Amino acid sequence: MSEPIIDLQSDHYFMGEALRQAVRAADAEETPVGAVVVREGRIIARAFNQVETLRDATAHAEMLALTQAEEAVGDWRLTDCTLYVTKEPCPMCAGAAVHVRLARVVYGVSDPKAGAAGTAMNLLQFPTMNHRCDVTGGVREPECRALLQTFFAGRREENQKAAAKNRKNENGAPGSPSSAGDV
Ligand SMILES: [Zn+2]
Repeated sequence: MSEPIIDLQSDHYFMGEALRQAVRAADAEETPVGAVVVREGRIIARAFNQVETLRDATAHAEMLALTQAEEAVGDWRLTDCTLYVTKEPCPMCAGAAVHVRLARVVYGVSDPKAGAAGTAMNLLQFPTMNHRCDVTGGVREPECRALLQTFFAGRREENQKAAAKNRKNENGAPGSPSSAGDV
């Protein structure tokens, strides 16, 4: 109990639970990101991205999971908790992780554009902030990435269909090439 042991077996297991949440997001036509918060080996919060459902840009999986965890613990301090999330946290969520003083953040796929756990920036271990989290990335990365890729591929296909329909309506006017999505 005295020294923190990074147990890769349980990281694999808990990321599996975060992945289940991400699938629920995909089912709700949300960008598939899922998160769980673990304390003393138990999951105390589970959430998935609900930005569209709640029409709330702050409703990222991590934010919802952290709020749930605060309720479960009865304190805003989550110093003995670990957040598992399928995608590297954005600056908002990484900021929240520091504010609640999470012990550790474990993520699946990194985000080159906005990842704030060390890829685009590192807010989880920012020298002048009053708390730093341990970070582990790349846990079940292929599965986390595949979920996002499938989702955005579906989105692109829908966009292309819509664009083709518009071109038809505009009587053969050339459409603009569709932009590549995230991931
Ligand atoms: Zn976020």
